[in-house]
Amino acid sequence: MADKIRTNAAGGLLVPDQPIIPFIIGDGIGPDIWHAAVRVFDEAIRNAYHGKRAIVWKEILAGQKAFDEVGEWLPQESIDAMRDYIVSIKGPLTTPVGGGIRSLNVTIRQTLDLFVCQRPLSWIEGVPSPVKRPADVDMVIFRENTEDIYAGIEFEANSEAAQSLKRILVDQFQVDYPFRELTALGIKPVSKEGSVRLIRAAIQYALDHKRPSVSLVHKGNIMKFTEGAFKNWGYALAETEFADQVFTWNQWEKWKADHSEEEANRQLKQAQDAGKVIIKDVIADNFLQQILLNPKDYSVIATLNLNGDYISDALAAIVGGIGIAPGANINYHTGHAVFEATHGTAPRFANTDTMNPSSVILSGVMLFDYIGWHEVSAMITKALQKTIASKRVTIDFYNQMENATLLKTSAFGDAIIGYM
Ligand code: NAD
Repeated sequence: MADKIRTNAAGGLLVPDQPIIPFIIGDGIGPDIWHAAVRVFDEAIRNAYHGKRAIVWKEILAGQKAFDEVGEWLPQESIDAMRDYIVSIKGPLTTPVGGGIRSLNVTIRQTLDLFVCQRPLSWIEGVPSPVKRPADVDMVIFRENTEDIYAGIEFEANSEAAQSLKRILVDQFQVDYPFRELTALGIKPVSKEGSVRLIRAAIQYALDHKRPSVSLVHKGNIMKFTEGAFKNWGYALAETEFADQVFTWNQWEKWKADHSEEEANRQLKQAQDAGKVIIKDVIADNFLQQILLNPKDYSVIATLNLNGDYISDALAAIVGGIGIAPGANINYHTGHAVFEATHGTAPRFANTDTMNPSSVILSGVMLFDYIGWHEVSAMITKALQKTIASKRVTIDFYNQMENATLLKTSAFGDAIIGYM
């Protein structure tokens, strides 16, 4: 019987054989890619479980479709459903221009406190890439999803708030900075609690999936008390909560200072041989060149909100572009999760049946892994790999491949199903 996914006290999922999963079809190209994807999902479930399991998809409204039908961009009912049914999936949503809501996505993330934005980035053989060795990229990004400048605390240059905030900074905090007359101000909140819960999830993921390292990516050389603190809290967390399972660069530095560099290297090697996760850090600008030069050195990435935004798109471009980059927004304490394609609504291509549904299909793969239906995710992944290897692809890949066959969105879905 169809039922809700529930959670136990520890936030662990209790998944019935016929879970009800809400979906937001999305605006623009949303309906085209969703229709292709959901057929792939249902067929994979049928093949894997022969009727013993199935998903009951429950449509909920958001975005333009919600506005047109009920006069609201993000009805409370939809938020309630995402909370109530624990796991949901969404297509891209138009960001309303003007009005009270800044971004529907940011609102969903903040309302459900989905503090991890998780994005796996690895290459599927045959996908066109601008680099020589895209297979060297195999990373999972954990981007903090609720803090940083995304908190939206900013003041227009000519506003009363900006003027008085400047006065407070100068008069009360002796800030020594020559504010110009028309200076806008933004505030960047970064908390210990927010940083630690994100980094904890990243380290736990690395341990669970036998990943070699977690890199804390930050700009702490410039923003010492926000991004620098993120790094320091991360090292402190790793060395206390995960003391027996990790070795940190911080510890390496201590071994070097107290003994010698050789000894520090010996300790590092010993930790690696014992299967410990290495916790390191890298400054964000350097990281953006490292992902091009030495991507093999990085595995799990934990970073702040804005850095994570830039890094995700740069890595997505390397492994095939936003048409194939999946994502999830997760609260690892409550179990709530919203899976989503990472691209936008591409409104120019709405209802053309031409765009690539891979990002929403791979977001589904993440969803199936999340609810423990690994047979389904494995089947979809294999079938997608075979389809791309057969060079039957949508326009975005077709334009960059030689001797490829151009498929519509729906036909690409059929091709994947053909390999199941
Ligand atoms: P976009 O991601 O919608 O599109 C940019 C370009 O990327 C498109 O013109 C297209 O060439 C390509 N592209 C996107 N998806 C593709 C796919 N599945 N297959 C092949 N090519 C694809 O970005 P935009 O044009 O800047 O934004 C359009 C709207 O989407 C805006 O309203 C924006 O706010 C919104 N948006 C929503 C989300 C979301 O819901 N998660 C994310 C980003 C942007």
